[in-house]
Order: sequence, then C-alpha cells, then structure tokens
Amino acid sequence: MNLSIPANDLSVAIEADRAHVWHHLTQHKSLETNDPKIIVEGKGMRIWDAAGREFLDAVSGGVWTVNVGYGRESIADAVRDQLVKMNYFSQAAGSIPGAMFSEKLISKMPGLSRVYYVNSGTEANEKAFKMVRQIAHKRYGGKKHKILFRERDYHGSSITAVSAGGQPERNAQYGPFTPGFVEVPHCCEYRAQWDVENYGERAADAIEEVILREGPDTVGALCLEPVTAGGGVIAPPEGYWQRVQEICRKYDILLHIDEVVCGVGRTGTWFGYQHYGIEPDFVTMAKGVASGYAAIACMVTNEKVFEMFKDDVEDPMNYFRDISTFGGCTAGPAAALENMRIIEDEGLLENTTAMGERLMGNLHALMERHAVIGDVRGKGLFCGAELVADRATKEPVAEKRVQAVVAECAAQGVIIGATNRSIPGLNNTLCLSPALIATPDDIDRITDSIDVALGRVFS
Ligand code: PMP
Repeated sequence: MNLSIPANDLSVAIEADRAHVWHHLTQHKSLETNDPKIIVEGKGMRIWDAAGREFLDAVSGGVWTVNVGYGRESIADAVRDQLVKMNYFSQAAGSIPGAMFSEKLISKMPGLSRVYYVNSGTEANEKAFKMVRQIAHKRYGGKKHKILFRERDYHGSSITAVSAGGQPERNAQYGPFTPGFVEVPHCCEYRAQWDVENYGERAADAIEEVILREGPDTVGALCLEPVTAGGGVIAPPEGYWQRVQEICRKYDILLHIDEVVCGVGRTGTWFGYQHYGIEPDFVTMAKGVASGYAAIACMVTNEKVFEMFKDDVEDPMNYFRDISTFGGCTAGPAAALENMRIIEDEGLLENTTAMGERLMGNLHALMERHAVIGDVRGKGLFCGAELVADRATKEPVAEKRVQAVVAECAAQGVIIGATNRSIPGLNNTLCLSPALIATPDDIDRITDSIDVALGRVFS
C-alpha cells in the first residue's frame, strides 16, 4: 500500500532508529546489516512496515496487546478530548475518566471493588507485592511475607518481578534477587510431573506441599497467571483452580491473579480467572486494558484488603505508602473506557469465543497433517502449538527451527509469535493471539500460513 508517510521521512526515521534506538529483546549486532523493523501504520488486524509490506498480525502488537485492533478513531478521539480538558494531576487526587473507568471495570469483576492506577504490568504486580508485605508487617509481625509464584509464569521485568518469575532464561544474569519469593511447580499436563488421573488437583496439591514446607504462617500470597502466557500458553487442567482456591482459604493466603495478558477479553470472558469460578484478592492487568492506545495498568483488589489499609487511623503509617507518577495520566482511563465500550458494543467477547474455537479446531486439523505438532492448547483467542521432534518422546524441536516457522509465516505476510529464551530447552511453542475482532477468514489465513511454514521447515 502507499504509506501516508513521505519516503524521505521514512528513511530519516530508519537512520535515526539505527543510530539511537535500543530495541527491546534484541541483539543489536543483527541490525548492523539489516534494516530495523519499523511498523508505520495499522488498521484492524493489518499492519504495514516502512517498506510498505502488509502483514496480518496474529499476535496483537507482538505481545498480546492490541485487543480491539489498530486505527480506532473513537479511542483516539476520547484521548484527545480528555487531554485538552485535563491531561494530568497526581492520582493522590481523582480524575473523571479514572472514576468512570473504575466503575465500569468493577461492574465486570464481582467481589472486587478498588482500582489502583499504574503504568505497566510489572508495576501493577509490584503494587500487589508491596501490599502483601505491608499487610505482613501490620498484622503478622513481618512473618507472613513470602510470595509464591509458579514455575513457567512471568510477572514482569523489574528485579523484584523477575524474582517472582518462573522462566530461568529470563532471570539468568539479573540476580541477586529480591528475597521472599518461592517457586511452586508448573501445571502443564503435556509436560506432566506426576503420573496420576486427576492431574489438576495433583498439581495444585504441589502448591500445598510448598506451603507446608515453608510454613503456612510465613506465606502471604500466591501469584499465578490464569493461563501461563510466555511460558508456553498453559491453561491449567480441570480441578486445578478449585483446589488452589481451597488451599488459599485454608492457610489464609491472598490469591493474586496476573491478568496482564488474559485480561479484558483475550480468553472470551472479561478476565481469564472468570472461567474457573475463583475469587481472587488481587487482579493485575495491563496490555489489553486500553489495547496499547495509552499506557495504563491497574491493580484491582477487594474490600477485605482495602479495609486493612484504613482501619487504624491513629497510626500515621497505616495507608498504602506508594505513588506512581504516571498513574495520574488521564489518557489511560479515557482510552480504557472507550476500549471497553467497543468490546461490549461489538460483541467481541462472543466473537473471541467463536473465533477461538475455530482457531483451536484448525490447529487440531493441522496436528493430523504435521507430526511435529505435539500439543495444542489455550483459551479463547490465545492459543499455542508445541512442536516436538518425536511425539512419543516429546523431545522439543530446537528454538531456531521454531523461529524458522515464525519467519516462514512472516514471509507469507502473517506475524505469529513463539516462546523464546524463557524455559531452558522448551522454547518450542508457537503463540497465537489475534485481535478480538478476527474474522473466520483471518483465522483460516493464520493457520494456512502455519501449514505452509511447517511443511517448508520440517519436510
Ligand atoms: N505479567 C505477564 C503475565 C506478562 O506477560 C507481562 C508482559 N509480557 C507482564 C506481567 C509485564 O508487563 P509489562 O511489560 O507491562 O511490565
């Protein structure tokens, strides 16, 4: 297509990028000889790079973010209208969009009642961790301060968030870590650690074993992704969540669900945890909250937690002693409110469920044709296909061959993702998370391109 940006401006930008931008997750040596990838325009599910090449984006902005698709003028209008009225004041005060978005959000989260605004998923998780620590100091003499996290889960990029991260290849080189974070086993049945029938319950029982080993009076919270994302798209097996909830209640442990990826529609419900009938104490969210139209993340909690921070007014330290400067930006909640309206008015939760079933069905059909697919799994428009050299032994294919599949899809004009450099020896899952507006044609085009790519890489 003819890009709306003049060619001259594009070449100036490419040179400026090459000279000064440090890209995320990138070994820059590779950019000395290749042009940097610069995405310049987007509309719906499609994006265009600086060379004018068109791609169908099956990963919503690379990292599961642009849930309502690109080029939404109504979100841009909502942000603009708000910014010219009132762009910023510290969130120690309130704002109109902050108030209205929290009311709307809470209406979709029965049992929860308070929204704390921040900028990133990492930061939202940190706020919950800090609350757990403050509660431990206030109520338990500092003892109930440990936070459990799960092998293969990810909770962000700061030193404390990687201390709560179950992906060794992301953590390597960043220690020493924040103390008090303890790992529990993953629950991926395809990579089973126990030979039992009720795998979900068994995997949850493993959490109880860790609690008993550490001492229940030292454990304050358990932090889990509803569906593990970058660790391999793992939807926990049946029976898991019910046991997790029982265990948290039994030992008075706060349940923190990290919805940074699954939140705001990705799995076909507003939040991933809502598939499982559980009642979390903290829910953190970021990416899909405003679909990347503004930087906004939220830490949502319930009255039980909220009340603990205001019950002793004589104590001058008894409030959440925390601030996030840009949590006071109004562009975020203004965009988020319009984002939610779009999801409701366009029936995107229903579309996600229907298109997710189609995607899963297509992946199962591909499994019949390609022995290299060992497992397909997911929830809604969030699916993964694990690639193995041998179905019997489940030996993972090498990461570079998985990346070759991604490259072959890109060569056909479809951007897919894959787990990368996170779990040693297990970076072998293709990841798909198209926008919630995907049509049947989009879904079929995505899986057709994978079909061709697998044929090319593994024939
Ligand atoms: N939690 C999960 C489950 C994530 O996938 C991510 C980001 N990939 C984060 C937290 C961190 O979010 P952010 O990059 O916005 O800090």
